[in-house]
Amino acid sequence: MAGLVFLSILALVVAIPHTTLALELVASNASPASPGGQRFDAELGINGALSMMVDAIHYIQMAFAYSSPATPRKTVDTITFTLEDMPGVAYTYGSQFHLSASYVAGYTGEFQREMRSIVYHEMTHVWQWDGKDGNRAPSGLIEGIASFITLSYVNDLRPGFVTELNSKLATGWSESFFSDLTGKSVEQL
Ligand SMILES: [Zn+2]
Repeated sequence: MAGLVFLSILALVVAIPHTTLALELVASNASPASPGGQRFDAELGINGALSMMVDAIHYIQMAFAYSSPATPRKTVDTITFTLEDMPGVAYTYGSQFHLSASYVAGYTGEFQREMRSIVYHEMTHVWQWDGKDGNRAPSGLIEGIASFITLSYVNDLRPGFVTELNSKLATGWSESFFSDLTGKSVEQL
Protein backbone atom coordinates (compact mmCIF):
# COMPACT_ATOMS: atom_id res chain seq x y z
CA MET A 1 0.00 0.00 0.00
CA ALA A 2 1.45 3.34 -1.02
CA GLY A 3 1.52 6.37 1.17
CA LEU A 4 2.52 7.15 4.67
CA VAL A 5 2.93 4.53 7.33
CA PHE A 6 1.22 5.67 10.47
CA LEU A 7 2.72 4.52 13.69
CA SER A 8 0.40 5.00 16.60
CA ILE A 9 2.39 5.07 19.80
CA LEU A 10 1.28 5.53 23.36
CA ALA A 11 3.46 5.62 26.42
CA LEU A 12 2.62 5.19 30.07
CA VAL A 13 4.65 5.57 33.23
CA VAL A 14 3.93 3.01 35.94
CA ALA A 15 5.00 3.16 39.55
CA ILE A 16 6.69 -0.01 40.73
CA PRO A 17 5.43 -1.01 44.18
CA HIS A 18 7.93 -1.01 47.05
CA THR A 19 10.48 0.98 45.06
CA THR A 20 11.02 4.57 44.04
CA LEU A 21 11.40 3.41 40.45
CA ALA A 22 9.11 4.26 37.61
CA LEU A 23 8.79 2.13 34.51
CA GLU A 24 7.93 3.48 31.10
CA LEU A 25 5.75 1.37 28.84
CA VAL A 26 5.68 2.22 25.16
CA ALA A 27 3.22 0.47 22.85
CA SER A 28 2.81 0.83 19.12
CA ASN A 29 0.92 -0.67 16.23
CA ALA A 30 3.49 -0.76 13.45
CA SER A 31 1.17 -2.52 11.02
CA PRO A 32 -2.05 -0.48 11.29
CA ALA A 33 -3.23 -1.12 7.72
CA SER A 34 -2.89 -4.93 7.87
CA PRO A 35 -5.86 -7.15 8.81
CA GLY A 36 -4.16 -7.95 12.12
CA GLY A 37 -3.38 -4.31 12.79
CA GLN A 38 -6.98 -3.36 12.15
CA ARG A 39 -8.31 -6.17 14.34
CA PHE A 40 -5.89 -5.20 17.09
CA ASP A 41 -7.08 -1.58 17.01
CA ALA A 42 -10.75 -2.63 16.94
CA GLU A 43 -10.70 -5.35 19.63
CA LEU A 44 -7.88 -4.38 22.01
CA GLY A 45 -6.09 -1.19 20.99
CA ILE A 46 -2.93 0.27 22.36
CA ASN A 47 -4.69 1.36 25.54
CA GLY A 48 -5.99 -2.16 26.07
CA ALA A 49 -2.54 -3.63 25.51
CA LEU A 50 -0.96 -1.16 27.94
CA SER A 51 -3.60 -1.94 30.53
CA MET A 52 -2.94 -5.70 30.23
CA MET A 53 0.81 -5.06 30.51
CA VAL A 54 0.32 -3.07 33.73
CA ASP A 55 -1.85 -5.86 35.21
CA ALA A 56 0.70 -8.48 34.18
CA ILE A 57 3.68 -6.56 35.59
CA HIS A 58 2.00 -6.16 38.96
CA TYR A 59 1.04 -9.84 39.05
CA ILE A 60 4.51 -11.04 38.02
CA GLN A 61 6.28 -8.82 40.54
CA MET A 62 4.02 -10.24 43.25
CA ALA A 63 4.60 -13.80 42.02
CA PHE A 64 8.38 -13.26 41.99
CA ALA A 65 8.24 -11.65 45.47
CA TYR A 66 9.68 -8.35 44.31
CA SER A 67 8.65 -6.75 47.59
CA SER A 68 11.16 -8.95 49.43
CA PRO A 69 14.64 -7.48 49.87
CA ALA A 70 15.96 -11.03 49.37
CA THR A 71 14.74 -11.16 45.76
CA PRO A 72 17.27 -10.14 43.12
CA ARG A 73 15.42 -7.65 40.96
CA LYS A 74 15.89 -6.86 37.34
CA THR A 75 16.38 -3.21 36.53
CA VAL A 76 14.04 -2.37 33.68
CA ASP A 77 13.48 1.25 32.67
CA THR A 78 11.36 0.85 29.57
CA ILE A 79 9.30 -1.96 28.09
CA THR A 80 8.25 -1.66 24.48
CA PHE A 81 5.40 -3.50 22.81
CA THR A 82 5.15 -3.59 19.03
CA LEU A 83 2.50 -5.19 16.87
CA GLU A 84 4.24 -5.87 13.58
CA ASP A 85 4.47 -7.99 10.46
CA MET A 86 6.47 -11.05 11.45
CA PRO A 87 6.08 -14.83 11.43
CA GLY A 88 5.14 -16.83 14.52
CA VAL A 89 3.15 -15.59 17.51
CA ALA A 90 5.20 -13.40 19.84
CA TYR A 91 8.65 -13.11 21.34
CA THR A 92 10.47 -10.94 23.82
CA TYR A 93 14.06 -9.86 23.47
CA GLY A 94 15.32 -8.08 26.57
CA SER A 95 12.45 -5.74 27.33
CA GLN A 96 11.14 -5.58 23.76
CA PHE A 97 7.90 -7.48 23.30
CA HIS A 98 6.86 -8.21 19.70
CA LEU A 99 3.49 -9.59 18.57
CA SER A 100 2.70 -10.90 15.09
CA ALA A 101 -0.03 -9.03 13.20
CA SER A 102 -0.78 -12.11 11.08
CA TYR A 103 -1.27 -14.19 14.24
CA VAL A 104 -3.73 -11.57 15.52
CA ALA A 105 -5.55 -11.62 12.17
CA GLY A 106 -5.86 -15.41 12.07
CA TYR A 107 -6.69 -16.21 15.71
CA THR A 108 -10.12 -17.85 15.87
CA GLY A 109 -10.55 -18.47 19.63
CA GLU A 110 -11.39 -16.01 22.41
CA PHE A 111 -9.28 -13.10 21.34
CA GLN A 112 -9.12 -11.09 24.57
CA ARG A 113 -8.18 -14.12 26.61
CA GLU A 114 -5.50 -15.14 24.14
CA MET A 115 -4.03 -11.64 24.18
CA ARG A 116 -3.99 -11.61 27.98
CA SER A 117 -2.30 -15.00 28.06
CA ILE A 118 0.37 -13.84 25.59
CA VAL A 119 0.94 -10.61 27.52
CA TYR A 120 1.40 -12.46 30.86
CA HIS A 121 3.76 -14.94 29.23
CA GLU A 122 5.86 -12.32 27.46
CA MET A 123 5.95 -9.94 30.44
CA THR A 124 7.29 -12.84 32.51
CA HIS A 125 10.17 -13.10 30.04
CA VAL A 126 10.99 -9.45 30.77
CA TRP A 127 11.19 -10.01 34.53
CA GLN A 128 12.48 -13.56 34.95
CA TRP A 129 16.15 -14.48 35.31
CA ASP A 130 17.71 -16.94 32.88
CA GLY A 131 21.19 -17.58 34.24
CA LYS A 132 24.30 -15.77 33.11
CA ASP A 133 26.47 -15.63 30.00
CA GLY A 134 28.12 -19.02 29.59
CA ASN A 135 25.73 -20.51 32.11
CA ARG A 136 22.22 -20.06 30.71
CA ALA A 137 19.19 -22.03 31.90
CA PRO A 138 17.62 -24.43 29.36
CA SER A 139 14.99 -22.72 27.20
CA GLY A 140 12.40 -25.33 28.25
CA LEU A 141 12.79 -24.20 31.85
CA ILE A 142 12.51 -20.52 30.92
CA GLU A 143 9.37 -21.21 28.87
CA GLY A 144 8.00 -23.40 31.66
CA ILE A 145 8.35 -20.58 34.18
CA ALA A 146 6.54 -18.16 31.85
CA SER A 147 3.71 -20.68 31.36
CA PHE A 148 3.61 -21.37 35.10
CA ILE A 149 3.12 -17.68 35.90
CA THR A 150 0.38 -17.37 33.27
CA LEU A 151 -1.50 -20.46 34.53
CA SER A 152 -1.00 -19.36 38.15
CA TYR A 153 -2.72 -16.10 37.33
CA VAL A 154 -5.77 -17.95 35.97
CA ASN A 155 -5.65 -20.44 38.86
CA ASP A 156 -5.68 -17.55 41.36
CA LEU A 157 -8.86 -16.23 39.76
CA ARG A 158 -10.39 -19.69 39.83
CA PRO A 159 -8.77 -22.04 42.38
CA GLY A 160 -8.61 -25.62 41.06
CA PHE A 161 -8.46 -24.44 37.46
CA VAL A 162 -5.30 -26.33 36.47
CA THR A 163 -6.50 -29.54 38.15
CA GLU A 164 -9.89 -29.41 36.44
CA LEU A 165 -8.39 -28.38 33.11
CA ASN A 166 -6.17 -31.46 33.27
CA SER A 167 -9.23 -33.66 33.90
CA LYS A 168 -11.11 -32.14 30.97
CA LEU A 169 -8.17 -32.80 28.67
CA ALA A 170 -8.86 -36.54 29.10
CA THR A 171 -11.71 -36.12 26.60
CA GLY A 172 -10.03 -33.85 24.07
CA TRP A 173 -9.64 -30.09 23.78
CA SER A 174 -12.03 -27.19 23.42
CA GLU A 175 -11.46 -23.44 23.58
CA SER A 176 -14.57 -23.28 25.77
CA PHE A 177 -12.76 -25.12 28.61
CA PHE A 178 -11.39 -21.84 29.91
CA SER A 179 -14.73 -20.06 30.15
CA ASP A 180 -16.47 -23.28 31.32
CA LEU A 181 -14.05 -23.55 34.24
CA THR A 182 -13.60 -19.93 35.17
CA GLY A 183 -17.20 -18.82 34.67
CA LYS A 184 -15.76 -15.49 33.61
CA SER A 185 -16.32 -13.51 30.51
CA VAL A 186 -13.23 -13.26 28.38
CA GLU A 187 -12.83 -9.59 29.27
CA GLN A 188 -12.72 -10.47 32.98
CA LEU A 189 -10.21 -13.22 32.48
ZN1 LIG B 1 8.08 -17.73 25.84
